[in-house]
Amino acid sequence: MKLREIQRIVEDRHQHWWHFLITNILTPPNTTPPAVKWRYRASKRIVANATSERCEYNLNYLIENPGYIDELVCHEVCHSYAARFYPRASHGYLWKFLFHKICGFRGTNHVKGTISKMLPVVKVANRAEKIRRKIAELENSLP
Ligand SMILES: [Zn+2]
Repeated sequence: MKLREIQRIVEDRHQHWWHFLITNILTPPNTTPPAVKWRYRASKRIVANATSERCEYNLNYLIENPGYIDELVCHEVCHSYAARFYPRASHGYLWKFLFHKICGFRGTNHVKGTISKMLPVVKVANRAEKIRRKIAELENSLP
């Protein structure tokens, strides 16, 4: 699958799970969906991360494990949702309730699938992202 296609699927599932949560249970104080951020890491430990304001998804993991995208995205969106009520909710009662009872996933909170050294396509995307950031930085520093 192409990188762009993976990103499109993740963004789609991200929106889906956020709207699913805010329409099926208690509306959080702030209903703006968490932002999607891309990460490019060849690390087994950091496949995703979430705060109340954003979810970070590691493209290197997603491109190798497209079968786990829906579960991973739901996992992170549940973290963001839970954090709007309790900033330190982590994998506690509220997260488990959302992920298992509301969204219907049975899995544990452990990472499934594999992740190898950074894939060439991800490396290129990472470099392009760094260049984009550098250009934006330079543009912002212009008088
Ligand atoms: Zn988690």
